[in-house]
Amino acid sequence: MSGKKGKVEERIKEDLEETVERGETERYLIDCLKGLVRIPTFVPPGENYGKIVDLLIPVFEEFGFGCERIAMPEEVYEARQKREELRGERVNLLATKDFGAEESIVIYTHLDVVPAGEGWSASPFDPVMSDERIYGRGVADSKGSVASLVTALSIMDEQGLESTYNIRVALTTDEEIGLYSGLCFFADDGLLPGDYLLCMDGDNEGICVATNGVMNWEIKVYGKSCHSSLPFLGVNAIEKTVLVIRELDGLKNVIERKESRIPCSPEITELTGQTHIKPVFNVTMINGGVKENLIPPSCTLRGDRRYISEEAVEEVIQEFEDAVEAIKTTHGIELELYCKPGYPPMFTDPDSEWVRRVKAAASDAFGVSKVTIGVQGGLDVAYAVQRTKQPVCAFGVGRSIESNAHGPDENVRIQDLKDYVKFLVTLLT
Ligand SMILES: [Zn+2]
Repeated sequence: MSGKKGKVEERIKEDLEETVERGETERYLIDCLKGLVRIPTFVPPGENYGKIVDLLIPVFEEFGFGCERIAMPEEVYEARQKREELRGERVNLLATKDFGAEESIVIYTHLDVVPAGEGWSASPFDPVMSDERIYGRGVADSKGSVASLVTALSIMDEQGLESTYNIRVALTTDEEIGLYSGLCFFADDGLLPGDYLLCMDGDNEGICVATNGVMNWEIKVYGKSCHSSLPFLGVNAIEKTVLVIRELDGLKNVIERKESRIPCSPEITELTGQTHIKPVFNVTMINGGVKENLIPPSCTLRGDRRYISEEAVEEVIQEFEDAVEAIKTTHGIELELYCKPGYPPMFTDPDSEWVRRVKAAASDAFGVSKVTIGVQGGLDVAYAVQRTKQPVCAFGVGRSIESNAHGPDENVRIQDLKDYVKFLVTLLT
Protein backbone atom coordinates (compact mmCIF):
# COMPACT_ATOMS: atom_id res chain seq x y z
CA MET A 1 0.00 0.00 0.00
CA SER A 2 1.46 3.40 -0.93
CA GLY A 3 1.73 6.00 1.78
CA LYS A 4 -0.71 8.34 0.05
CA LYS A 5 -3.39 5.71 -0.46
CA GLY A 6 -2.90 4.59 3.14
CA LYS A 7 -3.58 8.13 4.36
CA VAL A 8 -6.74 8.45 2.25
CA GLU A 9 -8.02 5.12 3.57
CA GLU A 10 -7.20 6.22 7.09
CA ARG A 11 -9.25 9.41 6.65
CA ILE A 12 -12.23 7.55 5.18
CA LYS A 13 -12.09 5.17 8.12
CA GLU A 14 -12.13 8.05 10.60
CA ASP A 15 -15.04 9.67 8.74
CA LEU A 16 -16.99 6.44 8.83
CA GLU A 17 -16.31 5.97 12.52
CA GLU A 18 -17.53 9.52 13.17
CA THR A 19 -20.62 9.15 10.95
CA VAL A 20 -21.73 5.89 12.52
CA GLU A 21 -21.17 7.14 16.06
CA ARG A 22 -23.29 10.28 15.38
CA GLY A 23 -26.50 10.49 17.42
CA GLU A 24 -28.63 10.89 14.33
CA THR A 25 -27.20 7.73 12.73
CA GLU A 26 -27.96 5.81 15.88
CA ARG A 27 -31.51 7.17 15.95
CA TYR A 28 -32.07 6.23 12.32
CA LEU A 29 -30.74 2.72 12.97
CA ILE A 30 -32.82 2.17 16.11
CA ASP A 31 -36.00 3.59 14.56
CA CYS A 32 -35.56 1.34 11.57
CA LEU A 33 -35.08 -1.73 13.76
CA LYS A 34 -38.06 -0.83 15.94
CA GLY A 35 -40.24 -0.46 12.85
CA LEU A 36 -39.20 -3.90 11.59
CA VAL A 37 -39.75 -5.64 14.96
CA ARG A 38 -43.20 -4.04 15.33
CA ILE A 39 -44.39 -5.98 12.29
CA PRO A 40 -44.85 -9.43 13.81
CA THR A 41 -43.50 -11.74 11.13
CA PHE A 42 -43.31 -14.79 13.38
CA VAL A 43 -43.78 -18.15 11.78
CA PRO A 44 -45.96 -20.09 12.12
CA PRO A 45 -48.13 -18.57 10.71
CA GLY A 46 -45.93 -16.03 8.87
CA GLU A 47 -48.89 -13.94 7.82
CA ASN A 48 -47.29 -10.47 7.75
CA TYR A 49 -44.60 -10.82 5.10
CA GLY A 50 -46.45 -8.50 2.71
CA LYS A 51 -46.52 -5.76 5.35
CA ILE A 52 -42.80 -5.85 6.10
CA VAL A 53 -41.88 -5.96 2.40
CA ASP A 54 -44.17 -2.97 1.74
CA LEU A 55 -42.44 -1.09 4.55
CA LEU A 56 -38.99 -1.80 3.09
CA ILE A 57 -39.62 -1.13 -0.61
CA PRO A 58 -39.75 2.71 -0.39
CA VAL A 59 -36.65 2.65 1.84
CA PHE A 60 -34.56 0.77 -0.73
CA GLU A 61 -36.05 2.84 -3.55
CA GLU A 62 -34.87 6.00 -1.82
CA PHE A 63 -31.29 4.71 -2.22
CA GLY A 64 -31.80 4.04 -5.92
CA PHE A 65 -32.57 0.33 -5.71
CA GLY A 66 -35.05 -1.32 -8.05
CA CYS A 67 -37.46 -3.38 -5.94
CA GLU A 68 -39.52 -6.44 -6.69
CA ARG A 69 -42.18 -7.87 -4.41
CA ILE A 70 -41.96 -11.56 -5.21
CA ALA A 71 -44.54 -13.98 -3.85
CA MET A 72 -43.78 -17.68 -3.99
CA PRO A 73 -46.07 -18.97 -6.78
CA GLU A 74 -49.11 -20.84 -5.45
CA GLU A 75 -48.22 -24.13 -7.18
CA VAL A 76 -44.65 -24.08 -5.75
CA TYR A 77 -46.00 -23.23 -2.29
CA GLU A 78 -48.61 -26.02 -2.47
CA ALA A 79 -46.06 -28.59 -3.56
CA ARG A 80 -43.12 -27.74 -1.33
CA GLN A 81 -43.95 -25.57 1.66
CA LYS A 82 -47.67 -25.38 2.49
CA ARG A 83 -48.68 -26.64 5.93
CA GLU A 84 -51.79 -26.30 8.03
CA GLU A 85 -50.20 -23.87 10.48
CA LEU A 86 -49.07 -21.39 7.78
CA ARG A 87 -51.25 -18.51 6.61
CA GLY A 88 -51.00 -15.69 4.10
CA GLU A 89 -48.92 -14.92 1.03
CA ARG A 90 -45.20 -15.83 1.02
CA VAL A 91 -43.95 -12.38 -0.05
CA ASN A 92 -40.20 -11.80 -0.50
CA LEU A 93 -38.19 -8.71 -1.39
CA LEU A 94 -35.57 -8.47 -4.10
CA ALA A 95 -33.79 -5.10 -4.28
CA THR A 96 -31.06 -4.53 -6.84
CA LYS A 97 -28.73 -1.72 -7.76
CA ASP A 98 -26.19 -1.71 -10.54
CA PHE A 99 -23.17 0.38 -9.56
CA GLY A 100 -21.41 -0.40 -12.84
CA ALA A 101 -18.97 -2.51 -10.84
CA GLU A 102 -17.13 -5.56 -12.14
CA GLU A 103 -18.25 -7.86 -9.37
CA SER A 104 -21.67 -8.57 -7.91
CA ILE A 105 -22.71 -9.49 -4.42
CA VAL A 106 -25.88 -11.07 -3.08
CA ILE A 107 -26.76 -9.94 0.43
CA TYR A 108 -29.25 -12.17 2.16
CA THR A 109 -31.15 -12.64 5.37
CA HIS A 110 -34.64 -13.72 6.40
CA LEU A 111 -37.58 -11.53 7.43
CA ASP A 112 -39.38 -14.13 9.54
CA VAL A 113 -38.77 -14.67 13.24
CA VAL A 114 -39.70 -17.44 15.66
CA PRO A 115 -42.84 -16.91 17.83
CA ALA A 116 -42.35 -14.91 21.04
CA GLY A 117 -42.72 -17.80 23.48
CA GLU A 118 -42.91 -17.08 27.21
CA GLY A 119 -40.82 -15.41 29.87
CA TRP A 120 -40.31 -11.92 28.40
CA SER A 121 -39.69 -8.97 30.72
CA ALA A 122 -41.38 -6.60 28.21
CA SER A 123 -43.47 -6.86 25.07
CA PRO A 124 -41.51 -8.85 22.44
CA PHE A 125 -42.96 -6.86 19.54
CA ASP A 126 -42.57 -3.38 21.02
CA PRO A 127 -38.79 -3.07 21.40
CA VAL A 128 -37.30 -1.42 24.47
CA MET A 129 -33.82 -0.07 25.08
CA SER A 130 -31.99 -0.79 28.27
CA ASP A 131 -28.32 -1.15 29.35
CA GLU A 132 -27.12 -0.18 25.86
CA ARG A 133 -29.06 -2.95 24.20
CA ILE A 134 -32.31 -3.25 22.37
CA TYR A 135 -34.73 -6.03 23.31
CA GLY A 136 -37.37 -7.58 21.05
CA ARG A 137 -38.12 -10.69 19.02
CA GLY A 138 -35.84 -10.79 16.01
CA VAL A 139 -33.47 -7.94 16.98
CA ALA A 140 -30.54 -10.38 16.72
CA ASP A 141 -32.04 -13.04 14.42
CA SER A 142 -32.07 -11.25 12.11
CA LYS A 143 -33.88 -7.91 11.80
CA GLY A 144 -30.90 -6.11 13.35
CA SER A 145 -28.90 -7.05 10.24
CA VAL A 146 -31.63 -5.61 7.99
CA ALA A 147 -31.71 -2.34 9.95
CA SER A 148 -27.90 -2.15 9.79
CA LEU A 149 -27.94 -2.74 6.04
CA VAL A 150 -30.50 0.03 5.52
CA THR A 151 -28.38 2.35 7.67
CA ALA A 152 -25.19 1.44 5.77
CA LEU A 153 -26.92 2.18 2.46
CA SER A 154 -28.22 5.49 3.77
CA ILE A 155 -24.68 6.52 4.80
CA MET A 156 -23.33 5.51 1.39
CA ASP A 157 -26.14 7.41 -0.32
CA GLU A 158 -25.70 10.53 1.79
CA GLN A 159 -21.92 10.60 1.33
CA GLY A 160 -21.99 9.66 -2.33
CA LEU A 161 -19.95 6.48 -1.70
CA GLU A 162 -20.17 4.10 -4.65
CA SER A 163 -20.27 0.38 -3.97
CA THR A 164 -17.46 -1.68 -5.45
CA TYR A 165 -20.03 -4.40 -6.10
CA ASN A 166 -23.35 -4.43 -7.90
CA ILE A 167 -25.73 -5.24 -5.08
CA ARG A 168 -28.62 -7.68 -4.97
CA VAL A 169 -30.47 -7.82 -1.66
CA ALA A 170 -32.67 -10.86 -0.99
CA LEU A 171 -34.88 -10.59 2.09
CA THR A 172 -36.95 -13.73 2.24
CA THR A 173 -39.50 -15.80 4.15
CA ASP A 174 -39.91 -18.94 6.25
CA GLU A 175 -36.28 -19.62 7.17
CA GLU A 176 -37.23 -20.43 10.74
CA ILE A 177 -39.72 -23.11 9.77
CA GLY A 178 -37.62 -24.82 7.18
CA LEU A 179 -38.48 -27.08 4.30
CA TYR A 180 -38.69 -24.74 1.33
CA SER A 181 -37.99 -21.14 2.35
CA GLY A 182 -38.28 -18.07 0.14
CA LEU A 183 -34.52 -18.21 -0.40
CA CYS A 184 -34.72 -21.80 -1.70
CA PHE A 185 -37.30 -20.59 -4.22
CA PHE A 186 -35.06 -17.64 -5.21
CA ALA A 187 -32.15 -20.03 -5.81
CA ASP A 188 -34.23 -22.43 -7.90
CA ASP A 189 -35.77 -19.57 -9.86
CA GLY A 190 -32.37 -18.12 -10.81
CA LEU A 191 -32.87 -14.92 -8.82
CA LEU A 192 -29.50 -14.98 -7.06
CA PRO A 193 -26.82 -14.38 -9.68
CA GLY A 194 -23.63 -12.85 -8.32
CA ASP A 195 -19.99 -13.58 -7.58
CA TYR A 196 -20.31 -13.76 -3.80
CA LEU A 197 -22.96 -14.22 -1.16
CA LEU A 198 -23.05 -12.54 2.22
CA CYS A 199 -25.48 -14.19 4.60
CA MET A 200 -26.40 -11.74 7.36
CA ASP A 201 -28.16 -14.51 9.28
CA GLY A 202 -25.56 -15.49 11.84
CA ASP A 203 -23.60 -14.24 14.82
CA ASN A 204 -20.81 -11.69 14.97
CA GLU A 205 -18.24 -13.75 16.88
CA GLY A 206 -16.73 -15.38 13.84
CA ILE A 207 -17.05 -15.60 10.08
CA CYS A 208 -19.03 -18.75 9.49
CA VAL A 209 -17.81 -20.75 6.48
CA ALA A 210 -19.29 -24.15 7.28
CA THR A 211 -22.60 -25.46 8.54
CA ASN A 212 -23.80 -29.02 9.00
CA GLY A 213 -26.24 -30.76 6.70
CA VAL A 214 -29.47 -31.96 8.26
CA MET A 215 -31.20 -35.29 7.88
CA ASN A 216 -34.29 -36.20 9.87
CA TRP A 217 -35.04 -39.89 10.28
CA GLU A 218 -37.74 -42.22 11.51
CA ILE A 219 -37.57 -45.85 12.62
CA LYS A 220 -40.76 -47.81 12.87
CA VAL A 221 -40.47 -50.89 15.12
CA TYR A 222 -43.14 -53.55 14.69
CA GLY A 223 -44.47 -55.98 17.30
CA LYS A 224 -47.59 -58.07 17.65
CA SER A 225 -50.55 -56.96 19.69
CA CYS A 226 -52.35 -59.15 22.22
CA HIS A 227 -53.95 -59.05 25.68
CA SER A 228 -51.39 -57.81 28.18
CA SER A 229 -52.23 -60.60 30.63
CA LEU A 230 -50.93 -63.11 28.04
CA PRO A 231 -47.87 -61.22 26.69
CA PHE A 232 -46.21 -64.42 25.40
CA LEU A 233 -48.83 -64.46 22.62
CA GLY A 234 -47.48 -61.21 21.16
CA VAL A 235 -44.33 -59.15 20.62
CA ASN A 236 -43.96 -55.94 22.64
CA ALA A 237 -42.86 -53.22 20.20
CA ILE A 238 -41.87 -50.83 23.03
CA GLU A 239 -39.56 -53.40 24.62
CA LYS A 240 -37.99 -54.01 21.21
CA THR A 241 -37.57 -50.26 20.75
CA VAL A 242 -35.59 -50.04 24.00
CA LEU A 243 -33.12 -52.49 22.47
CA VAL A 244 -32.97 -50.40 19.30
CA ILE A 245 -32.23 -47.23 21.30
CA ARG A 246 -29.41 -48.98 23.14
CA GLU A 247 -27.86 -50.12 19.86
CA LEU A 248 -28.27 -46.66 18.32
CA ASP A 249 -26.18 -45.29 21.15
CA GLY A 250 -23.26 -47.27 19.69
CA LEU A 251 -23.89 -45.65 16.29
CA LYS A 252 -24.04 -42.23 17.97
CA ASN A 253 -20.58 -42.81 19.48
CA VAL A 254 -19.12 -43.73 16.09
CA ILE A 255 -20.74 -40.70 14.41
CA GLU A 256 -19.79 -38.15 17.04
CA ARG A 257 -16.16 -39.26 17.11
CA LYS A 258 -15.77 -37.75 13.64
CA GLU A 259 -14.65 -34.15 13.35
CA SER A 260 -14.57 -31.46 10.68
CA ARG A 261 -11.39 -29.57 9.88
CA ILE A 262 -13.34 -26.34 10.55
CA PRO A 263 -13.11 -25.00 14.13
CA CYS A 264 -16.17 -24.09 16.16
CA SER A 265 -16.54 -20.63 17.67
CA PRO A 266 -14.27 -19.68 20.59
CA GLU A 267 -17.43 -19.32 22.72
CA ILE A 268 -18.42 -22.94 22.11
CA THR A 269 -14.86 -24.12 22.80
CA GLU A 270 -14.86 -22.22 26.06
CA LEU A 271 -18.21 -23.70 27.05
CA THR A 272 -17.65 -27.32 26.01
CA GLY A 273 -13.96 -27.87 25.28
CA GLN A 274 -14.91 -28.93 21.74
CA THR A 275 -12.49 -27.44 19.23
CA HIS A 276 -13.98 -28.39 15.82
CA ILE A 277 -17.48 -28.86 14.52
CA LYS A 278 -18.73 -32.43 14.56
CA PRO A 279 -21.57 -34.53 13.23
CA VAL A 280 -24.47 -35.00 15.62
CA PHE A 281 -26.87 -37.90 16.14
CA ASN A 282 -29.96 -37.58 18.34
CA VAL A 283 -33.05 -39.57 19.19
CA THR A 284 -35.56 -36.80 19.87
CA MET A 285 -39.06 -38.35 19.69
CA ILE A 286 -40.73 -41.60 20.71
CA ASN A 287 -44.29 -42.61 20.16
CA GLY A 288 -45.97 -45.95 20.78
CA GLY A 289 -48.67 -47.91 22.56
CA VAL A 290 -52.45 -47.89 22.48
CA LYS A 291 -53.73 -48.74 25.94
CA GLU A 292 -52.33 -49.94 29.29
CA ASN A 293 -53.71 -53.46 28.91
CA LEU A 294 -52.69 -54.04 25.30
CA ILE A 295 -49.26 -55.20 24.10
CA PRO A 296 -48.13 -52.41 21.75
CA PRO A 297 -48.14 -53.39 18.07
CA SER A 298 -45.69 -50.67 16.98
CA CYS A 299 -43.43 -47.90 18.21
CA THR A 300 -41.90 -45.02 16.29
CA LEU A 301 -38.58 -43.34 16.99
CA ARG A 302 -37.56 -40.08 15.38
CA GLY A 303 -34.45 -37.98 15.45
CA ASP A 304 -31.92 -36.04 13.45
CA ARG A 305 -28.49 -36.64 12.05
CA ARG A 306 -26.40 -33.57 11.34
CA TYR A 307 -23.49 -34.20 9.04
CA ILE A 308 -20.31 -32.27 8.37
CA SER A 309 -19.34 -31.06 4.90
CA GLU A 310 -16.64 -33.76 4.75
CA GLU A 311 -19.41 -36.40 4.76
CA ALA A 312 -21.62 -37.13 1.73
CA VAL A 313 -25.31 -37.60 2.34
CA GLU A 314 -25.22 -40.99 0.52
CA GLU A 315 -22.53 -42.23 2.94
CA VAL A 316 -24.54 -40.92 5.88
CA ILE A 317 -27.61 -42.87 4.76
CA GLN A 318 -25.56 -46.00 4.01
CA GLU A 319 -23.90 -45.94 7.43
CA PHE A 320 -27.31 -45.67 9.10
CA GLU A 321 -28.87 -48.41 6.96
CA ASP A 322 -25.99 -50.77 7.73
CA ALA A 323 -26.35 -50.14 11.46
CA VAL A 324 -30.09 -50.72 11.34
CA GLU A 325 -29.61 -53.93 9.32
CA ALA A 326 -27.21 -55.21 12.00
CA ILE A 327 -29.75 -54.44 14.76
CA LYS A 328 -32.41 -56.32 12.80
CA THR A 329 -30.35 -59.48 12.43
CA THR A 330 -28.76 -59.44 15.90
CA HIS A 331 -32.06 -59.08 17.74
CA GLY A 332 -34.54 -60.42 15.22
CA ILE A 333 -36.50 -57.18 15.32
CA GLU A 334 -38.88 -56.18 12.57
CA LEU A 335 -38.28 -52.53 11.73
CA GLU A 336 -38.13 -49.97 8.94
CA LEU A 337 -35.88 -46.93 8.55
CA TYR A 338 -36.88 -43.76 6.67
CA CYS A 339 -34.25 -41.09 5.99
CA LYS A 340 -35.41 -37.58 5.09
CA PRO A 341 -32.51 -35.35 4.02
CA GLY A 342 -33.05 -31.59 4.56
CA TYR A 343 -30.62 -28.70 4.02
CA PRO A 344 -27.20 -29.79 2.76
CA PRO A 345 -23.97 -28.77 4.52
CA MET A 346 -22.35 -25.47 3.59
CA PHE A 347 -18.64 -25.04 3.01
CA THR A 348 -16.46 -22.23 1.70
CA ASP A 349 -12.69 -22.52 1.68
CA PRO A 350 -11.48 -20.42 4.67
CA ASP A 351 -8.48 -19.30 2.60
CA SER A 352 -10.55 -18.04 -0.34
CA GLU A 353 -10.58 -14.43 -1.49
CA TRP A 354 -14.17 -13.81 -0.41
CA VAL A 355 -13.57 -15.06 3.14
CA ARG A 356 -10.43 -12.95 3.32
CA ARG A 357 -12.38 -9.80 2.35
CA VAL A 358 -15.24 -10.43 4.77
CA LYS A 359 -12.82 -11.24 7.57
CA ALA A 360 -10.79 -8.09 6.95
CA ALA A 361 -13.87 -5.82 6.88
CA ALA A 362 -15.36 -7.45 9.99
CA SER A 363 -12.12 -7.33 11.98
CA ASP A 364 -11.63 -3.70 11.02
CA ALA A 365 -15.17 -2.64 11.92
CA PHE A 366 -15.39 -4.53 15.22
CA GLY A 367 -11.83 -3.68 16.22
CA VAL A 368 -10.98 -7.31 17.01
CA SER A 369 -9.66 -10.09 14.83
CA LYS A 370 -12.56 -12.24 13.62
CA VAL A 371 -11.79 -15.92 13.08
CA THR A 372 -13.38 -18.32 10.60
CA ILE A 373 -15.66 -20.84 12.24
CA GLY A 374 -18.25 -23.51 11.54
CA VAL A 375 -21.60 -24.17 13.25
CA GLN A 376 -23.40 -27.48 13.76
CA GLY A 377 -26.81 -26.11 12.77
CA GLY A 378 -28.19 -25.99 9.25
CA LEU A 379 -28.99 -22.93 7.13
CA ASP A 380 -31.27 -22.45 4.14
CA VAL A 381 -28.45 -20.53 2.47
CA ALA A 382 -26.63 -23.90 2.18
CA TYR A 383 -29.41 -25.06 -0.14
CA ALA A 384 -29.12 -21.84 -2.15
CA VAL A 385 -25.36 -21.99 -2.70
CA GLN A 386 -25.53 -25.65 -3.61
CA ARG A 387 -27.47 -24.33 -6.63
CA THR A 388 -25.58 -21.11 -7.26
CA LYS A 389 -22.06 -22.35 -6.38
CA GLN A 390 -21.18 -18.98 -4.83
CA PRO A 391 -18.58 -18.58 -2.09
CA VAL A 392 -20.59 -17.71 1.01
CA CYS A 393 -19.89 -16.36 4.49
CA ALA A 394 -22.43 -16.02 7.27
CA PHE A 395 -21.80 -13.08 9.56
CA GLY A 396 -24.59 -11.43 11.53
CA VAL A 397 -25.21 -8.90 14.21
CA GLY A 398 -25.97 -10.89 17.39
CA ARG A 399 -23.91 -12.94 19.82
CA SER A 400 -24.47 -16.69 19.93
CA ILE A 401 -25.16 -17.08 23.65
CA GLU A 402 -25.67 -13.55 24.98
CA SER A 403 -28.33 -12.47 22.44
CA ASN A 404 -30.64 -15.37 23.38
CA ALA A 405 -32.08 -15.67 19.88
CA HIS A 406 -35.22 -17.86 19.87
CA GLY A 407 -35.53 -17.33 23.66
CA PRO A 408 -37.15 -14.67 25.87
CA ASP A 409 -35.56 -11.20 26.06
CA GLU A 410 -33.74 -11.59 22.75
CA ASN A 411 -31.36 -8.65 22.57
CA VAL A 412 -28.58 -7.05 20.64
CA ARG A 413 -25.91 -4.60 21.75
CA ILE A 414 -26.34 -1.19 20.13
CA GLN A 415 -22.58 -1.04 19.67
CA ASP A 416 -22.73 -4.33 17.75
CA LEU A 417 -25.39 -2.87 15.46
CA LYS A 418 -23.20 0.19 14.82
CA ASP A 419 -20.12 -1.94 14.23
CA TYR A 420 -22.14 -4.02 11.80
CA VAL A 421 -23.04 -0.85 9.87
CA LYS A 422 -19.30 -0.04 9.71
CA PHE A 423 -18.60 -3.60 8.54
CA LEU A 424 -21.08 -3.30 5.69
CA VAL A 425 -19.85 0.10 4.52
CA THR A 426 -16.23 -1.13 4.71
CA LEU A 427 -17.01 -4.30 2.78
CA LEU A 428 -19.10 -2.62 0.10
CA THR A 429 -17.00 0.48 -0.63
ZN1 LIG B 1 -31.84 -16.64 11.54
